[in-house]
Amino acid sequence: MQPFTYWDATSVEEAGKLLSLKNAMALGGGVDLLGEMKERIRTPDHVVNLRSIKGLDEIRKTDKGWRIGATALIADIAEHAGLKKDLPGLAEAALSVATPQIRNQGTLGGNLAQRPRCWYYRSADFDCAKKGGKGCPAEEGENRYLAVLGGGPCHIVHPSDCAPMLVALGARLFLRGPDGARDLPIEDFYESPSKNLACEYTLKPGEIIEAVEVPIALDRSTYVKLRERDSFDFALAACALAGRIEGDHFTEARLVLGGVAPVPWRVAAAESNLIKNTLADAVEPAANAAAEGAKPMSQNGYKVPLIRAAVARAIRALAGGK
Ligand SMILES: Cc1cc2nc3c(=O)[nH]c(=O)nc-3n(C[C@H](O)[C@H](O)[C@H](O)COP(=O)(O)OP(=O)(O)OC[C@H]3O[C@@H](n4cnc5c(N)ncnc54)[C@H](O)[C@@H]3O)c2cc1C
Ligand code: SF4
Repeated sequence: MQPFTYWDATSVEEAGKLLSLKNAMALGGGVDLLGEMKERIRTPDHVVNLRSIKGLDEIRKTDKGWRIGATALIADIAEHAGLKKDLPGLAEAALSVATPQIRNQGTLGGNLAQRPRCWYYRSADFDCAKKGGKGCPAEEGENRYLAVLGGGPCHIVHPSDCAPMLVALGARLFLRGPDGARDLPIEDFYESPSKNLACEYTLKPGEIIEAVEVPIALDRSTYVKLRERDSFDFALAACALAGRIEGDHFTEARLVLGGVAPVPWRVAAAESNLIKNTLADAVEPAANAAAEGAKPMSQNGYKVPLIRAAVARAIRALAGGK
């Protein structure tokens, strides 16, 4: 690992100043960043610990919903009684992240800002387009875990389980940096490779995720994740679904796929299928709409039926009164 200077930030303002130093990076639990540093994929000169900021891990109810601080542990989100009651899909998504050890170390901010898992990106031996090199070796190579929707010129899949669920729940992200604070819908934070090849989101210099605010407007939510090993694994395909059901109809629905596209992939056509059909009649058209437009690569065609299965399971879970 390349030597670096380590800083314990004591406030969000101080973190912003430290992160404005040349080649500085934020540290949450370090689950992702330290792996990249060991592989020399990222070589910061300054590492700024955010977990030393008092109160940044707070989870509290406000008049707008739930506000979750950036350094809240994923395990605490998964086990929080209030979140389980008001936002069950978010607790399910957090519980599906990795292993108990990783959930006890990883933070929400780090989970949302984690970098992709493409083998070529993670290996120091390859210098692909995402890392400033030329081309995408995955196109002719190992692409079984990569995108079937929205890919090109890079075909990564968005790795976080929390992000698709937060998009489905209509969460807002609160960012703070040396130029002040701003907030935006979390779905606008993420950018596809055709817009931003080098990174999956844009933070201004010195800016960090400070908190996420999640409204409780949609009273039903669930997260269905399909993976190779149920003990721990990234999603091969996942469906985050949040909505409101009256009688035998969805009156509101937000459906977002994970593990199949470079960003959390919201599917408006599936949402309108859910609203215009009865619950029983909605499953098949919504599942088909979710997979529409999929362009599998040479090894990942299996993801298309997985998308349909994840969506169908999510609809049935909510329709069953979960
Ligand atoms: C074996 C394994 C299995 C995994 N499985 C899953 C899985 O199934 N689902 C899933 O979602 N994830 C999975 N992960 C990823 C893991 O959940 C994330 O790596 C973890 O959540 C990162 O959190 P962290 O706090 O340790 O982040 P860090 O490693 O500290 O940071 C990650 C990135 O985010 C940036 N960052 C951290 N905090 C902030 C902030 N507040 N504002 C701005 N930028 C910030 C850092 O600079 C860095 O680039 C897995 C990881 C491993 C190693
Ligand atoms: S998918 Fe993206 S990260 Fe992976 S090899 Fe291609 S360009 Fe690199």
